[in-house]
Amino acid sequence: MKPIDRLALADIGGNPSRLAEAILAQVKSDAIITPIEDIASALGILEIRQAPLEGAEGVLITNLDKQEGAILINANSPHTRRRFTLAHELGHFVNPWHTPTSSAGFRCTAKDMRTTTSRTLTREQRMEVEANQFAAALLMPQQHIRRFLGANPNFDLTDAATLKDKLEVSLEAILRRLVSLSEEPIAVLFLASGAVRYSIRSSGFPRLTYSSKSFVAELRKAIPESGTSSRVSSWSDVTAQSWAENTFACTIYCQELKQSADRSVVLLSAEMSTSDDECDGSDWEPPRFRR
Ligand SMILES: [Zn+2]
Repeated sequence: MKPIDRLALADIGGNPSRLAEAILAQVKSDAIITPIEDIASALGILEIRQAPLEGAEGVLITNLDKQEGAILINANSPHTRRRFTLAHELGHFVNPWHTPTSSAGFRCTAKDMRTTTSRTLTREQRMEVEANQFAAALLMPQQHIRRFLGANPNFDLTDAATLKDKLEVSLEAILRRLVSLSEEPIAVLFLASGAVRYSIRSSGFPRLTYSSKSFVAELRKAIPESGTSSRVSSWSDVTAQSWAENTFACTIYCQELKQSADRSVVLLSAEMSTSDDECDGSDWEPPRFRR
């Protein structure tokens, strides 16, 4: 792979998605799987080393002008996580606004890799969010994801699992990307040990109300246990009122994929009422005054 022209990237500024897209445009790779290690070398990363790390997923060692660097990846993590970590560190490397947080450069934890936008972010957290946005855009290019969503607007968890294998990313990463780009009202819950770790939703999906354990107990009643032949349950519908606030949704459908004995993901899809039909309480009539 030819060296990537860093000067051409300088015009973009710090927008993580646009930086990733500009790199992909320069690389012109036809491969579905982003050649992340080749891209790292082409950007000026001299060495990528895998070693068991305690309390960190990735470390980027670089100087202030960030023209060259080396990246250390936690060898204990699975392949898809290591790819995401490498892309995340590249996000710090190419973003002109990111400056090392310590004399050791950038040292990023598993929690940093999950940091998403929230109302109050410190400067360090904002850099982590941007590095994650960059990694998502580089490993799951927008055009691939939009094409998939165009062909599968009502995708299910089996479709998502096939797509993540194709792109060599984790199920969590692909679901986050799909929800962020989907125009359908969908949400995903990440469950562990009988509680909700966190949830994400597309802009059209109603706000979820849940209190971890009781919510999961209710969920268990709604979703039939998947058989031994498949880790993915069939779709089932649940009563929207108990799940979502101020909902215009008639029905919420849910499907679960078991990842391990105590971890699973649940995909929710809302079927929205289009007009003032029975779903938003049109059974109710205003009281009439007697004459
Ligand atoms: Zn980081």
